[in-house]
Amino acid sequence: MMHRNIAPATRHAAPLFVGSDFCRVPAFGRNHPLAIPRVSAVMELCQVLGWLDEGSFRHARPASIERLAIFHDRCYVEALREADARGSVQPEVRARHHFGNLENPLFPGVFERAATAVGGSILAAELALEGRAVFHPAGGTHHGRPDRASGFCYFNDPVFAIGALLERGAGRVLYVDLDAHHCDGVQDAFAGDDRVLMVSIHEADRWPHTGAADDRGSGNSRNLPVPAGFNDSELRCLLDEIVLPAGAAFGPGAVVITCGTDALEGDPLSRMALSNGALWDAVDALISLTGPAVVLGGGGYNPWTLARCWTGLWGRLSGRDIPAALPPEAQLVLADLECDLVEDEDLKCEWFKALADEPNVGPVRAEIRDLVARQAKGSTNELA
Ligand SMILES: [Zn+2]
Repeated sequence: MMHRNIAPATRHAAPLFVGSDFCRVPAFGRNHPLAIPRVSAVMELCQVLGWLDEGSFRHARPASIERLAIFHDRCYVEALREADARGSVQPEVRARHHFGNLENPLFPGVFERAATAVGGSILAAELALEGRAVFHPAGGTHHGRPDRASGFCYFNDPVFAIGALLERGAGRVLYVDLDAHHCDGVQDAFAGDDRVLMVSIHEADRWPHTGAADDRGSGNSRNLPVPAGFNDSELRCLLDEIVLPAGAAFGPGAVVITCGTDALEGDPLSRMALSNGALWDAVDALISLTGPAVVLGGGGYNPWTLARCWTGLWGRLSGRDIPAALPPEAQLVLADLECDLVEDEDLKCEWFKALADEPNVGPVRAEIRDLVARQAKGSTNELA
């Protein structure tokens, strides 16, 4: 791999928040981990804090079928559109394209909602190239496959964000995925494309069971599977020892980050234990590598930790100070949230009162040291 160092570009334009009316509409029916308020709660919190005005918000529009068909198989795109319009899915279509099941349910508006996540990520990429950070929390559907839905993802909007940046002259794009699950759909989409460096930190031994430490894709992927209980000190170690040096050496013209909140302590579907401040610091450090930055959402199934994390992330991106305590109107937004997957006795007081978690500083365990050593060895082998 060619290594070149470039000075970080200046980010001269104001940060933007991309969203759509779909963010406010309940989705995924009932009894689905994503049937919780997510981006709507983030937008409400940002609004009551005075952090989201008209000037910093941009509306996403759905990507066209032609656009979707650049990555997805046209017959899959058409099948999802038709099933949504009809309100039912035929068994052979369900078997072929993996939607209309418990994992990837058919619910009213699913096609336009998924197409709007793609449109939002393309818009975010275009706006980022003006030299700014753009936050699109409804994005981050990193499991979507060309011909099928997977892992609650119908399309793959990060693929379109990266594609739009490349198409418009970003040169090289660094993609960093901090979600608790491996970004299998993104890794496979850019296999063999050395304009993209993909780095994923995800929980080991968890679905989709890809992204092992020695999996370098076609040479342009770095996978860092971490043990349960992954703490802030361990994230800092991986960033300083692997992710930031590899990212800087790659010389990206833009960065795309998927910041799933399922990597936080308290998520019901995973067992990582980061504090939200650790994710905010990671995003800050990654976007300082270059000018244009697209920050996507991703997974996250605890509505309290999600709403506080992404609200604080937008606060940090847009230069706000994180308040020590939330004003009463903001506390009301958090008090209104509900989630069947989180037991009442697991609710933490700070989830209702403040944005920032207590930092989870801890030992850097042997598994993390081993990852650092393996990556160093892998790089040496590559150079040899
Ligand atoms: Zn996830």
